[in-house]
Amino acid sequence: MGLVRGLLIQGNSKVGEAINLWGLPAVTTCPGMTSVCQGACYALRSRFRFQTVKDRLAWNLEQTERDDFCGRMAKEIRHKGCLVLRVHSSGDFFNPEYAEKWLWIMKKVPKPRYYWYSRSWRIAEIAEVLEKMAALKQVRGWHGIDSETGTPQNVPKGIRTAYLQVDEDTPPEQADLVFRVRRLRKLPRPRIGLTVLPICPNESDK
Ligand code: SF4
Repeated sequence: MGLVRGLLIQGNSKVGEAINLWGLPAVTTCPGMTSVCQGACYALRSRFRFQTVKDRLAWNLEQTERDDFCGRMAKEIRHKGCLVLRVHSSGDFFNPEYAEKWLWIMKKVPKPRYYWYSRSWRIAEIAEVLEKMAALKQVRGWHGIDSETGTPQNVPKGIRTAYLQVDEDTPPEQADLVFRVRRLRKLPRPRIGLTVLPICPNESDK
């Protein structure tokens, strides 16, 4: 009998053991990436350099191309009783068809809270699907923005924006959250009430 390998991995004690993670290879699955996010991307560093991790993410990508991907993912989410699922601890929604698969899964198994940070809003065909996802009450979607992306013209209902700050610039007014590279973490908060997080491997890649 062949080894049945799960699709999801469990978060660690830092990111939260109640969180289940799904990841893909960074860069090659990131049609909306910028030089800014690539330069700060934790999914290109530390443990992500290990061959075992690279192999795992490549295997995940292969699974997305299989006809049984959606069914297997839905079954695993149910079986594990997932409460929170982060879609893409690395990588992104790489085309509309793949994003549609996740939309199907989120509708089919609405129990967990799903969340994602994505720069694929920059691709119009994918942005349409992200908007549909974010309209679901079980989904929390974040558009990743930075000085290169600019700010989206229209941010759909249910989606928030997370600004990646790599210079001492002023985050746009529209940003709901700021991720700062470590060397900037001592800068004062840009405005009252705005959440500012230092980037670390357990926080975000977007
Ligand atoms: S930060 Fe996100 S979008 Fe940018 S390269 Fe890394 S995984 Fe891809």
